[in-house]
Amino acid sequence: MIDFQGILNNIHDDLKAQEVKGIVASYIPELSKKDVNNLGLFMQHVDGRSFSAGDAFTPFSIQSISKVLALSKAIAFEDNKIWERVDVEPSGNPFNHLSLLELENGIPRNPLINSGALVIADILVSHLENPKEDFLQYVRDISNDQTIKYNFKVADSEESTGFNNFAAAYLLKSFNNLNNSVEDVLDFYFHQCSIEMSCAQLSKAFYLFANGGKCMNNKQHIPVKQAKRINAIMLTCGFYDEAGEFAFEVGLPGKSGVGGGIVALLPNNFIIATWAPGLNPRGNSLIGMQALEQFTSQTNLSIF
Ligand code: GLU
Repeated sequence: MIDFQGILNNIHDDLKAQEVKGIVASYIPELSKKDVNNLGLFMQHVDGRSFSAGDAFTPFSIQSISKVLALSKAIAFEDNKIWERVDVEPSGNPFNHLSLLELENGIPRNPLINSGALVIADILVSHLENPKEDFLQYVRDISNDQTIKYNFKVADSEESTGFNNFAAAYLLKSFNNLNNSVEDVLDFYFHQCSIEMSCAQLSKAFYLFANGGKCMNNKQHIPVKQAKRINAIMLTCGFYDEAGEFAFEVGLPGKSGVGGGIVALLPNNFIIATWAPGLNPRGNSLIGMQALEQFTSQTNLSIF
């Protein structure tokens, strides 16, 4: 039997003591207030056991991790029609890169880069009656936790500085790949990114991707086939232009966010979330990646 608790404790203590911790994101001014010394780890096994270390229960800005949750909700509405508007290839470029979008006629490379996530946001704005309220309720339902909230200060902070996202949205609009107004889509997108969750809450939210589309309450939110596809997209596109490195070092599908969170999973086995706000030059949590590399090496649990 693997001593998951002992392994998490050791990883936590080892990395907490490490001096190089990366740099906290500052391009969204509200995010720059976080302390680089935070470190949380939470593991949820599909058999119900869970293990934690450090700041595992402190909510933080999930940012791009929300893109996976938005995709899973959009798939429930549009199924395969989504793939006419957004591709499923890794971009090999930073998350906010625009030139490929222009070259490829307004079809984003994948739903986990910003332009792709904006198309997914557009789909949700079209289908949800009260988009922001309904999406938050979906996240609460799949996490089995009604306390999850938006951070309006973070959403406002990004709304006043997110010029690159405005540029991407206008470009998509010019290629007729947004049905709603740029303002409505961005307002929804900035709010989805501002959701705050802890490592524990994220592990529970992502349970459905490790469990064939069923959440912890045993409700089928997406078909098994779509859970498989979302895991494939996380593996190939979940870490900006570092997806190859993450597969190489860690070997799990997952998604990171510039708030310093990472969530990764082994289907039918476990979900693990880490939070360490210092980022590496490619925008992924520096300590989080090291923690997950240590975890899959020490447990010998990865998809490879
Ligand atoms: N809201 C952020 C942005 O669009 C998300 C970035 C991220 O976490 O990768 O710039």
